[in-house]
Amino acid sequence: GCGICVKKCPFEAVNIINLPKDLDRNTTHRYGPNTFKLHRLPMPRPGQVLGLVGTNGIGKSTALKILAGKMKPNLGKYDAAPDWGEVLLHFRGSELQNYFTKILEDNIKATIKPQYVDHIPRAVRGLVGKVLKAKDERTEAEGFNCLDWAVENAELGHVMDRDIGVLSGGELQRFAIAAVIVQSSDVYMFDEPSSYLDVKQRLTAALMIRTLVNGDLGSRRYVLVVEHDLAVLDYLSDYVCCLYGTPGAYGVVTMPFSVREGINVFLAGFIPTENLRFRENALSFKVSERAEEADAGAKNDVMSTFTYPAMTKTQTKGTAKFILHVESGSFTDSEIIVLLGENGTGKTTFIRMLAGLLKSDEQTKAEAEGDEEAAEAAGVPQLRVSYKPQKISPKFQGTVRQLLHKRIRDMYVHPQFVSDVMKPMNMEGIIDQGVQNLSGGELQRLAICLALGTTALVYLVDEPSAYLDSEQRINAAKVIKRFIMHSKKTAFVVEHDFIMATYLADRVVVYVGQPGIEATASTPQGLLTGMNQFLKSLEVTFRRDPTNFRPRINKHGSQKDQEQKAAGSYFFHD
Ligand code: ADP
Ligand code: ADP
Ligand code: MG
Ligand code: MG
Repeated sequence: GCGICVKKCPFEAVNIINLPKDLDRNTTHRYGPNTFKLHRLPMPRPGQVLGLVGTNGIGKSTALKILAGKMKPNLGKYDAAPDWGEVLLHFRGSELQNYFTKILEDNIKATIKPQYVDHIPRAVRGLVGKVLKAKDERTEAEGFNCLDWAVENAELGHVMDRDIGVLSGGELQRFAIAAVIVQSSDVYMFDEPSSYLDVKQRLTAALMIRTLVNGDLGSRRYVLVVEHDLAVLDYLSDYVCCLYGTPGAYGVVTMPFSVREGINVFLAGFIPTENLRFRENALSFKVSERAEEADAGAKNDVMSTFTYPAMTKTQTKGTAKFILHVESGSFTDSEIIVLLGENGTGKTTFIRMLAGLLKSDEQTKAEAEGDEEAAEAAGVPQLRVSYKPQKISPKFQGTVRQLLHKRIRDMYVHPQFVSDVMKPMNMEGIIDQGVQNLSGGELQRLAICLALGTTALVYLVDEPSAYLDSEQRINAAKVIKRFIMHSKKTAFVVEHDFIMATYLADRVVVYVGQPGIEATASTPQGLLTGMNQFLKSLEVTFRRDPTNFRPRINKHGSQKDQEQKAAGSYFFHD
């Protein structure tokens, strides 16, 4: 272990990192002097979905742009870019030579779903329905109503008459995926398709993408996906390439692996076939027994239990009305409760009630009647909370260090907090940057540190994995878990990344109902019962990888899937 934690620590001892020696001969692209270098390239195969996994800033989007023919690779010679002849010569003997020849001769067309969907409204204007209709080539070419199919699956029916400029993040993402899928193309690329989507929408998007390799036409199509939600990547890929290196400095693409092997290589930080280690520590998940482990010594302590009553919360905006019903429940210290549900079912609403920012309808009514006692009983217990909101848009003008100093002065230099939170969240790397210049992922890491560094009894963490890459997600999940167990506090976490959610959860609240209209939040339930209920509603089953315990989605209709469904064991059957 790292020597700081008493219990078994996820941050294992350091190993030596070794890298291939021939990297310079395999440079694919360099943006300029002293800038990022990409080594090697992933090789797409027709009729298969290639998944790419790797940390932020490691060259995934760069690789996609090159493979789409949108950027000519310069083989590292940024000052004297080689012509295509030289590039083809560089890739001679590999399938990439053939691939680039086709790209060059305009024999194949590539379409990309860009990573940053929030930039789309600046580039594409108009009504959702009109734009999709204009892009739809497949309906005519393939003789099935591709447009209707895409609109239905991407849940865009209700926004067809809206301007692209008013769409939410999730709606933009689904619009962007649909807009790519309806085009006739030879190469389809999806750069981070699951951002802003809930679990159900992620699974649907994965299935939509997979249909591209179906049938005769599909057997000739190339499909590439960059994805940080490892359960989703696992579900939609036929094979996987990892990217490793130093973010912002260089990235190396590995050879292709089977999906299971590729994701395990990424998690292990080690490529057995090359005897090559690219990360100091392996990332692994042992779910929920950790809570018991950490608690074993503390069993004699008196646990605090807090309860909240059944509540209703009605929100109205213009003519739109949303009603959330909350079943009564309780929570104790040293536990993490994960809120699971579709977008628009009131997870953030409940978090804001717990934060004391919203009052239940019952509370508001009692207050209006002047009954203070009843008002207090009709709401959540008034505890000191620390809240990381879903939307992070700080107005602070100084540096990260100045903000940390202002908000969590004692904590951000406290040795235990430094080793438990600041170090694994890699705050060193951004501490002198201006808060206004941070990327989404950097802001998220800062927000998590600020939330955990604020002394409270209850920590409310709304969608911590947004903008984080898979490695940062695992680190963040471990940081949150360890912090809550060590400090014996409670956390409520909203999380759509399935691996992160199952890793964090001691218990879960499941949301059922109609998004945007009316929904019910269940009482906190045990992990197994709650997950079973949630997964049943999604019609998916999960198994666990024997190597690193990560949850894996069973392929729909597979033997395991059928067996588990018949037994009612949607969540792990081991
Ligand atoms: P990923 O998609 O894996 O997060 P990218 O391929 O977007 O990574 O970027 C890899 C690295 O290349 C990053 O450090 C990024 O800042 C840098 N980079 C990307 N585009 C350019 C560019 N046009 N000029 C210089 N550097 C760039
Ligand atoms: P989730 O976090 O599960 O995605 P939210 O709690 O953010 O869901 O929102 C639930 C529903 O309530 C959504 O349909 C949202 O549009 C609506 N809503 C949220 N805030 C308000 C508000 N202030 N007024 C009216 N409706 C709201
Ligand atoms: Mg990218
Ligand atoms: Mg929310």
